[in-house]
Parts: sequence; C-alpha cells; structure tokens
Amino acid sequence: MSFSLITPIFDLSPTQYNLADEVATVALARKLAQNCHQGMVIYLEGDLGAGKTTFSRGFIQGLGHIGHVKSPTYTLVEPYEIADWRVFHFDLYRLSDPEELEFMGIRDYFDADCICLIEWPDKGAGLLASADLHISIEYKQTGRVFTMQAKSAKGSDLLKQLN
Ligand code: ADP
Ligand code: MG
Repeated sequence: MSFSLITPIFDLSPTQYNLADEVATVALARKLAQNCHQGMVIYLEGDLGAGKTTFSRGFIQGLGHIGHVKSPTYTLVEPYEIADWRVFHFDLYRLSDPEELEFMGIRDYFDADCICLIEWPDKGAGLLASADLHISIEYKQTGRVFTMQAKSAKGSDLLKQLN
C-alpha cells in the first residue's frame, strides 16, 4: 500500500489589498469581474458597512451590467442576467432560518453558468456551494483592507489576474 501527500494544486496564500476609499473598492471589483470567465462562488465577509455591497456593485457592473445594483438586504437575493451568465447577489444577513434557502431552491443557484456573490455566507452554512474565493474586509483608520483567498483552482486562476 502506498500513501501520497495530498497537496493543493492551486495557490492558497491570501493576498491583501489596502483600499483607501469606495472608488478603489469598485475599481478592484470591476477588474476582478472583467477577468471572470468561469462560474464562480464568492463569499464576502466583514462587518456591516465594511463594503461587501460596494464590492458586489463594482463586480456586477464589471461583468457588464448597466444600471442600478440594489442591495439584497430585504429580498435575500437579487438576480441578474449578464451576457451568458446568471448572476446572483445574496445578502443572508436577515435569513432567520437556513431552511428558507431550501424553499428558494438554493441548489439551482450554483450551476456552471452562475456567478454568485454571497454576503454573510455564515448564515447559510451547510446549504451553500463551497466558495471559489473568500474575501474578507476589515476596517482600517482610513479605508479598508481586503483579504482575498482562493479556495479552488478557479478562484486561484481569477486571483492571478489581479497581479
Ligand atoms: P456592507 O455591504 O459590507 O454592509 P456597504 O458596501 O453597504 O457595506 O457600505 C460600505 C460603506 O463603506 C459605503 O459607505 C462605502 O462608500 C464605504 N466604502 C467602501 N469601500 C471603502 C473603502 N475602501 N474605504 C473606505 N470606505 C469604503
Ligand atoms: Mg451589504
């Protein structure tokens, strides 16, 4: 019997970005979106007001959406159709019972032609697809620090485009 060590075939090391203001957040999100050519699940973590929705707005517009990006605070999810993509922007902050996600048919949101941005993913733990990319946002005296970590080869490919 032989044993082999399982090592990830993609880069797991987190990358940090210091972003001074909203304009910088939107610019980074747009750049990431413009390089996104595969289905993708992105988890966004950070306190209220950290910039999860701001990032999502930049990302959705970077994919090609023209017009308003509404916060899904009350609807849980806002859908978009952009080119050949189905894009779902979730905000699970107000999710009272994860079962609500089952009623929404949550599994259908994670097909290969879907790009999902998920604010407060912890609230849906166990029912969401695993992330390709984790983004956590921290407050600094001025601006924010964004920490991005790939969780799959797809996420890693996407992050590489930023450098
Ligand atoms: P969340 O969705 O995490 O609750 P929002 O995106 O709704 O947060 O709000 C973030 C707030 O922080 C907005 O007022 C936005 O202008 C501001 N903001 C976003 N990015 C930055 C940044 N890099 N530095 C400082 N302020 C920012
Ligand atoms: Mg938000």
